[in-house]
Amino acid sequence: MALDDLYRDVILDHASHPRNRGRLDPSDVTAEGANPLCGDELVLFVRLDGDRIAAARFEGRGCSISQASASMMTEAVTGKTVAEVRALVGAFRAMMHGEAPSSELGDLAALQGVRKFPVRVKCATLPWVTLEQGLDDAAAGRPATTVTTDARE
Ligand code: ZN
Repeated sequence: MALDDLYRDVILDHASHPRNRGRLDPSDVTAEGANPLCGDELVLFVRLDGDRIAAARFEGRGCSISQASASMMTEAVTGKTVAEVRALVGAFRAMMHGEAPSSELGDLAALQGVRKFPVRVKCATLPWVTLEQGLDDAAAGRPATTVTTDARE
């Protein structure tokens, strides 16, 4: 199986059977994101156990890339510390902007295929910038702000 096919299968699997869909109530971090270019909308819920992400879920609607990315992200961050998650967000963003995927990304490397379609890159990064903003807001004690991909990527 060609690598492109494998990547496509991973993305389609997550898009059609998203993991961790739904709300977390209560949650320690709630963040909303929108990608107006595509119409993707997303709400993230994160529950912390000390400095570690105990659970992450999402609601929203959008294209298969944004849904798959959110599904894969919630799986990837669960059990990690906030510092590890911040590093992962940075590694993901770097990959989507052209760098070779670092090993910590694991299955998330499947999303590098999206780079061939520049207009879709923001679909893939939306959940990640939303999570980062939510962690920033929670750490600063601010009310949650809504992220739009025009403002931050
Ligand atoms: Zn999209």
